[in-house]
Amino acid sequence: MKYRHAFHAGNFADAHKHVALVALLQAMVRKDKGFLFIDTHAGRGAYDLGSGAARRSDEAASGIGRFTELAGGPAGEPEIDAWLEAVAAFRRERRERQAYPGSPLIAAQWLRPQDRAALVESEATEHVELRRELRDRPRYSIENGDGFQRLPAWLPPIERRALVLIDPPFEDSRADFERAAAATVDALARFPTCVIAIWYPIKLERDTTRWLDALAAKLAPRPLLVSELWIHPRDSRVGLNGSGLAIVNPPYLLDERMRQWLPVLHRRLDPAGEGGCAVRMAGAAATPGA
Ligand code: SAM
Repeated sequence: MKYRHAFHAGNFADAHKHVALVALLQAMVRKDKGFLFIDTHAGRGAYDLGSGAARRSDEAASGIGRFTELAGGPAGEPEIDAWLEAVAAFRRERRERQAYPGSPLIAAQWLRPQDRAALVESEATEHVELRRELRDRPRYSIENGDGFQRLPAWLPPIERRALVLIDPPFEDSRADFERAAAATVDALARFPTCVIAIWYPIKLERDTTRWLDALAAKLAPRPLLVSELWIHPRDSRVGLNGSGLAIVNPPYLLDERMRQWLPVLHRRLDPAGEGGCAVRMAGAAATPGA
């Protein structure tokens, strides 16, 4: 496998995914009762946006880079600004101005003593780094393995509450689309109230729509909340046109708040206005600039 998240860390897709993750974590900690956070494709945890890998394509410039003081600073929406503050706190703590926290280290800022984390990463070098980042945390299990295979082992959780992030590399797009859908169906059979967020790339409109419709049909009548942000026309051949999240069992009011913050995030990430964004229930068509 060639995929290394260091080449993409902090890009527009990470911005979308990580703001949504913050919104989900905020909803989970609203209740005192502990929960299990599962990250099936955890990555290395911390990224250096000044590294050779990050600078090669400079993807972060059109992601987190759109929120520097020069570019306008905070966004004025609580979920976006909580993500920006999480990044700023991470940088302050390490005294590294170019550091960027991946999903496990963002989650670590919200998890409380009563919560647990199960983090899975298949690449040995990434896994070693993640372990190093999160050493001395007895309630975190950091596994070197296949996240799709390991997910069933964690469900149902003893807490009877869980948030799962499924964030594959989609290097082999078809296989990851299929495995993500199958893992979701299986997870819900084991634990029906599990909150699951699947990140997916928007590359070709037809493929994305077909996958979402099939997933929604498999999960029906359970609602599937879809959050999409694209910065290029959805069918252009540039590569990654947009970022999508399919959220099963979305917490109360998550969609309502998302309808507020997603257009604000989109405007900042797509100043040329080539793309759009949408929050909808799967099955309903996307409308540009919603
Ligand atoms: N979730 C991370 C974040 O938001 O910071 C980024 C994850 S990155 C998109 C995908 C990661 O999954 C890579 O680090 C890759 O090495 C790893 N990976 C690939 N296949 C995997 C599998 N089957 N199980 C677990 N990890 C896998």
